[in-house]
Amino acid sequence: MSHVPERPLLFACAECSVVHVGVRESEDHYRPPDHCSVCDSETFTELPDHP
Ligand SMILES: [Zn+2]
Repeated sequence: MSHVPERPLLFACAECSVVHVGVRESEDHYRPPDHCSVCDSETFTELPDHP
């Protein structure tokens, strides 16, 4: 009976590199934001897990 704490995925904007927290869609699934709040780009790169 172990439960791994969930952490939101982070996504970096491909245009301006600003990091956004992923939007939680379900139990263990996150998606990038629709648009970058800084440059309005729709392209994001998922960041690798961080300590
Ligand atoms: Zn951006």
